[in-house]
Amino acid sequence: MIIELEPVFNNIGYEKSFDYELITEDCQITGINPFIKPIAVKGFVRNRAGIVEIKAQAIADMQLFCDRCAAEIYKKLIVPINHVLVTKLNNEDNDDFLVVGDMRFDLDPLAREDILLELPTKVLCRDDCKGLCPQCGKNLNQEPCSCEKPIDPRLEALRQLLDNN
Ligand SMILES: [Zn+2]
Ligand SMILES: [Zn+2]
Repeated sequence: MIIELEPVFNNIGYEKSFDYELITEDCQITGINPFIKPIAVKGFVRNRAGIVEIKAQAIADMQLFCDRCAAEIYKKLIVPINHVLVTKLNNEDNDDFLVVGDMRFDLDPLAREDILLELPTKVLCRDDCKGLCPQCGKNLNQEPCSCEKPIDPRLEALRQLLDNN
């Protein structure tokens, strides 16, 4: 969604709210689209005492896969989108400051980026997920398999070394 920033920067006290759905059909993260619904984005931009800020919340319904057993996981992420918008930086090193080059500001990429930053780096169906057996592929959460425990290749190399002596 495009927000016209000119009136926001030019009028102290100005506030404009928004509430819209961000289409996610073309979103991809490592080849798959994890969003199962449009992202609901709700908030406002305002000029408070000359400081222009955007405060919003994005709600994303996502389908992810467990890193260990590949089970489907449904997750609702509620992500804050809080930034101070500036037209230029004055030697301030602040991650919350967002330099806008264009007064026609597109909120969509910012919302997507903030959501991606909130994504957990490790996704597990449950903390103690046992994962899949690397040999037979059985889901070890359901039942143990009868494969022998894989031998640590480093130990195996050591054992061979010892055997040869
Ligand atoms: Zn799992
Ligand atoms: Zn197995």
